[in-house]
Amino acid sequence: MLQWKDVIQYASNGNPEPDRKVEKTEQEWRDQLTTEQFRITRQKGTEMAFSSEMCSLFEPALYSCVCCDTLLFNAEQKFESGSGWPSFTQPIKQNAIAYHQDNSHGMIRIETTCNTCGAHLGHVFPDGPKPSGLRYCMNAVALKKVTDQSLESERETQNIQTATFGGGCFWCTEAIFDRLEGVTQVRSGYAGGKVKNPAYREVCSGNTGHAEVVQVDYDPNIINYSDLIRIHLTTHDPTTLNQQGADRGTQYRSIILVNNDQEREIAEQIIKEVQGEAYEDLIVTEVKPFTSFYEAEPEHQNFYNRQPQYGYCQAVIDPKLAKFKMLYAEKIKQ
Ligand SMILES: [Zn+2]
Repeated sequence: MLQWKDVIQYASNGNPEPDRKVEKTEQEWRDQLTTEQFRITRQKGTEMAFSSEMCSLFEPALYSCVCCDTLLFNAEQKFESGSGWPSFTQPIKQNAIAYHQDNSHGMIRIETTCNTCGAHLGHVFPDGPKPSGLRYCMNAVALKKVTDQSLESERETQNIQTATFGGGCFWCTEAIFDRLEGVTQVRSGYAGGKVKNPAYREVCSGNTGHAEVVQVDYDPNIINYSDLIRIHLTTHDPTTLNQQGADRGTQYRSIILVNNDQEREIAEQIIKEVQGEAYEDLIVTEVKPFTSFYEAEPEHQNFYNRQPQYGYCQAVIDPKLAKFKMLYAEKIKQ
């Protein structure tokens, strides 16, 4: 979850890498957009307050950039700010939005743009609701409401699936799945509990019910769900209840969060197989339906790749990676 300090850091030290970039000429944008959309998004305009019905829409939906269709916000993070502009307390992904210092109009503010195409969206302020405390004050004209249906069909053409599981500290699991051929993205976060938008500190208390998990986007034409489950079960210890090595607590439990009955059957089948092949002690991995995933703070993303010299990485993650590379050499990204 992004907080004000992260926003300031991005605005001063540079923004996270977007998943993709879209660049077009001014004329191309003019041809594609309405006059008002062009004025707001490409010329840093501001729409009149209370000019859009989008302010009072709170039904489940996703919102994408009107210029490049990149998903930016989920209605779950939308709130009534009373400002007259649609307001969100968190973007859908940490690299969806870019932040820039804006000293125009005699104020010091943080401007937000689409990190994919540079569209001006609005500003972000530190007076939003807890726990993030952020208020993304957006121009409705810069956003496009996306229905579940159009989203589904887009995912189907791309054919990217998402799997969620945990096996102790997410720095470890992320480092492993990040290296697999066919995995397009790995995010560290929290799932399996009841608290909305938990912070790392809260999850560490063991009282949120959440486990540290990774969410893995993968192309099933290259690697399938059974492979992922097998790799998961053989690269952490699924036989120790609420514990991985020295890490103890329910947040470190072994867990697989399934999206449907088919995934449940596969997970249970692979657990049976791996039990026979690899472990004498009983596998205690929890298999439960997936409900929500909450992305962890930026400092926990991509941790091993950023800080391989960190003590924990050398002592705990390096040996796990060595085992993983030995077992699955043919499945590792070149
Ligand atoms: Zn965009």
